[in-house]
Amino acid sequence: MWKDPSVAYQAEYIWLDGYQPTPMLRSKTKILHDEVSEPPIWGFDGSSTEQATGEHSDCVLRPVFQCPDPIRGGRNMLVMCEVLLASSLRPHPSNTRAACARAEKKHADAQMWFGLEQEYTMERANGTPLGFPPGGGQPAPQGPYYCGVGTNRIFGRDIVEEHTQACIDAGLAISGTNPEVMPGQWEFQIGPLGPTAVGDQLNVARWLLQRIGEDYDVLISFDAKPQTGDWNGAGCHTNFSNLAMREGYPAIIEAVEKIGANYMELVSNYGDGIEERLTGDHETAPWSEFSYGVSHRGASIRIPWQVEKDGRGYAEDRRPNANCDPYTVARLITETINSPKKPAKKAAKKKAAAKK
Ligand code: ADP
Ligand code: MN
Ligand code: MN
Ligand code: MN
Repeated sequence: MWKDPSVAYQAEYIWLDGYQPTPMLRSKTKILHDEVSEPPIWGFDGSSTEQATGEHSDCVLRPVFQCPDPIRGGRNMLVMCEVLLASSLRPHPSNTRAACARAEKKHADAQMWFGLEQEYTMERANGTPLGFPPGGGQPAPQGPYYCGVGTNRIFGRDIVEEHTQACIDAGLAISGTNPEVMPGQWEFQIGPLGPTAVGDQLNVARWLLQRIGEDYDVLISFDAKPQTGDWNGAGCHTNFSNLAMREGYPAIIEAVEKIGANYMELVSNYGDGIEERLTGDHETAPWSEFSYGVSHRGASIRIPWQVEKDGRGYAEDRRPNANCDPYTVARLITETINSPKKPAKKAAKKKAAAKK
């Protein structure tokens, strides 16, 4: 049957694979025609992505977020998907979005917002960061690179310019970019958005960055500590608020202290290599201790000075790694700050009573 080319367009289906400890983004293209109004459910070979065995290889892609494709342009689109099991159409074990969506729904009254600061490192194909000598060795020490300008300070700005415009053209909630402390390291921010939406948009923005990097033969690394030694790691500072925090300061302290009471559960789900990055140096707090403070960039959680001054706003959990899963981070914070405080003393008393 002849297909009218004037009504054809491409939909890039994007999803997360089953690789551990850090899943990768995958995508493939579906050609659609005007007769379909929405990108339909689709499938892929899960045996090639660590999501299924060869005998039962089919996995299902369910579209959860779509936007214009700024690379292909025209009517083409990007389609972020979650992965379902073909047998039941229930969430695949690798699908962390489903649990995030449940938490968002359960705590809908809290009206959670998240703003994620995605840091990343641009590298040559051999793994050396841009700005480092290609054959090995070290550039001049950290200092002039953060928010710098000029040759020998800034590396890879073309890619940042292209990526930022691509995010804007896609309609993503990108809110800023900056060069980071280590040469070749950059940041962009997505948000504020709800818990699942921020993950969907961050994944699309990560995909766009890696896709644009292909055109420059530059590898985008989300490694938490790409260079050992006196070089900053790469994080994904997570700014969060619920409605009460946006209305008053006591709710901010309460939320931060609830996180402090559960700090190990959260930090152990904040991405691969957390101990390498959260050493206590390079603007981090040690991963095994919890602390917070106003304006404090060496604390686990920072309350921005403006927030203290205004008496309302948000707090920043500085611990998530650049390679974190935004759905899991947003789920854990949503559940932790909107659940009643654990009655620690009562539970201990009950236990003791039961023993008697
Ligand atoms: P930093 O000073 O730590 O570098 P950035 O400007 O990079 O901060 O990032 C701050 C982030 O906080 C932005 O992504 C912004 O969208 C987000 N943000 C602002 N207000 C709120 C709020 N009320 N709740 C959650 N996130 C917020
Ligand atoms: Mn920032
Ligand atoms: Mn930063
Ligand atoms: Mn920050």
